[in-house]
Amino acid sequence: MIALAAAALFAGLAAARARRDAAEPPGNAPGRGAEAGGESTQIQIGGATITVSIAAGRTDLPAPQLYAWVRRAARAVNAYYVTFPVARARVNVRPTPGRDGVFNGFTFCPDSGLLTTRIAVGEHTTEAELADDWMMTHELVHMAFPSMQDQHHWIEEGMATYVEPIGRAQDGQVSAASVWKWMVEGLPQGEPEPGDRGLDNTHTWGRTYWGGALFCLMADVGIRRETRNRAGLQDALRGIVAAGGTMDHDWSIERALATGDKATGTKVLQDLYAKMKDSPAPVDLGQLWKELGVEHTGGHVTFRDDAPLAAIRKAITEPVKAKVAPAKP
Ligand SMILES: [Zn+2]
Repeated sequence: MIALAAAALFAGLAAARARRDAAEPPGNAPGRGAEAGGESTQIQIGGATITVSIAAGRTDLPAPQLYAWVRRAARAVNAYYVTFPVARARVNVRPTPGRDGVFNGFTFCPDSGLLTTRIAVGEHTTEAELADDWMMTHELVHMAFPSMQDQHHWIEEGMATYVEPIGRAQDGQVSAASVWKWMVEGLPQGEPEPGDRGLDNTHTWGRTYWGGALFCLMADVGIRRETRNRAGLQDALRGIVAAGGTMDHDWSIERALATGDKATGTKVLQDLYAKMKDSPAPVDLGQLWKELGVEHTGGHVTFRDDAPLAAIRKAITEPVKAKVAPAKP
């Protein structure tokens, strides 16, 4: 399942150049078994080299399955950005005794400048749990956006929350229906509550993760409406990466959004930011689902292709190569 409920204990604003997605605070690992860990490998993807290390500790799954899980996440990021955002990165996997699942994702830029994700895998984590995991992809997506001041943390989390399932869909790992089901069920948590003072001033978990994702969906639909579906948020975010806006660089939000807008030839990101930064700006999601042709009944999502924005809905989860027009003869 793609669900951010596990991140509900999000503990406030992380320090600059560090993004912590903890399902719970880092625990005190009891004494590890005598298994020798310390294995590592290198994954080549999208022109990048990712060094994956597994710390000492027991896991029921052998190392190659853990490496394959990291590779799938890197592939989803590579599908969305049509490159891996940085030339070199590091992933440190920490086996955790007596547990299952994937937790305590944390991505940061150490003094060396080598972007690093630390993530925990339980001793009893299963292949099915790795197949359903969203967190590894979410962490790698963080590398593809410049570091913001704390006040703008919502765009870092919102962007990672929004891009992760779409990248996995574009890589064929999850269905388009599962992406929209996740949005229909999750995004209401990003709506403003009474007393809300806009995304820059309301640092709750819901507004940070889902409010930021809501900004991204509105931006995606807005860019596609304005460009007649020739460009989307994906092009804006790729433009930011192409201009050097990765997590190892500190940018202002204004610079990031202006760079993204330049890539699509619109002002959608900057206009939306002006609207949502210091006022609640609720979104009529029911109306939006109707326009996109997304129907949600009995826990299932079905699509209506006669909806006015059905082509936009389809384009959002389509692989990039399907969108690139063939070269003219
Ligand atoms: Zn995050």
